Amino acid sequence: MVEKLALVGIGKIARDQHIPAISGNPNWSLEATVSRHASVDGVASFETLEALLEERPDISTISLAIPPQPRFSYAEAALKAGKHVMLEKPPGQSLAECFALEALAREMDVSIFATWHSRFADCVPHLKSWLSSRELKRLAIVWKEDVRHWHPGQEWIWEPGGMGVFDPGINALSIMTEILPHAVHVCEAMLEYPENRATPIAAKLKFTDPNGAEMTAVFDWRQEGLQTWDIEIETTDGDARLSLGGEKLEINGELIKSGSNNEYPNLYARMSELVRNGASDMDMSPFIHVCDAYSLGRRITTSPFEY
Ligand code: NAP
Repeated sequence: MVEKLALVGIGKIARDQHIPAISGNPNWSLEATVSRHASVDGVASFETLEALLEERPDISTISLAIPPQPRFSYAEAALKAGKHVMLEKPPGQSLAECFALEALAREMDVSIFATWHSRFADCVPHLKSWLSSRELKRLAIVWKEDVRHWHPGQEWIWEPGGMGVFDPGINALSIMTEILPHAVHVCEAMLEYPENRATPIAAKLKFTDPNGAEMTAVFDWRQEGLQTWDIEIETTDGDARLSLGGEKLEINGELIKSGSNNEYPNLYARMSELVRNGASDMDMSPFIHVCDAYSLGRRITTSPFEY
């Protein structure tokens, strides 16, 4: 059965990924958009979610591609109207908001999906399966990008709830929490805040692994030139390197997969499966690491940041 969907927030990620992924999946039909400023050719557009909910009761699913700060109120209204809801990452601006949405979805008997797009890169299941039969010795996340290039004009990332460098960093944590066979926790963190900004521009984390593996993450938004989105893994039986944010996998120096990604097509396929099965997927483990980093983090103030 084809599910009718409305996409809320017609910004960068909606245009780059959501619209092509929805169009490429025969189980979804993009029936409407909600945006204060934008529209998509050939698709009905609404300026507010309330207007959409009022005028289009036939739409079953709302996909929210807006920043995390306003997301809760949109998701809450959609769930209360009996709609299935898909949340861009991070799923909210606080954990409690996400738990409240999960409970509301259960009460309304609809599906809710906290999408972690990086987990859905084609290489991730392969790496997870390889790691499942090995003993981890070391895992190092290095996620360094140029905020000026990737987030031009996005003031929301610097506001409370916008997460700063954890906005991309949580993608790495979503892969880490997916591939590890057991839970780990943050034991140390250092966060660098530009003196004129409310969210960090860089962060370093250390994790405690129950089996004693050395685990670290470095996130930095000041990287010029070569951009790095790597996870290096050493086990007692070989090494792996996931790079380009999940697009390329090498094991023991040999290229296993490269070039294909399919994160968003895979996300919409998963949402379709959740709706069909009357299920939800609200894994908060990447977000818990970010919250613990804020809780444990030593704060360092650095020079002001301007675009
Ligand atoms: P964006 O382009 O800055 O914003 C997306 C859209 O959200 C805007 O065009 C705006 O649409 C709407 N919006 C912004 N502030 C709002 C507010 N206060 N209330 C209601 N709507 C608001 O951001 P984005 O890069 O697409 O990111 C959106 C989400 O996707 C974030 O959670 C981000 O982490 C995630 N994401 C982004 C990327 C990426 O590469 N950019 C990748 C993966 C995931 P209107 O003004 O038209 O209403």
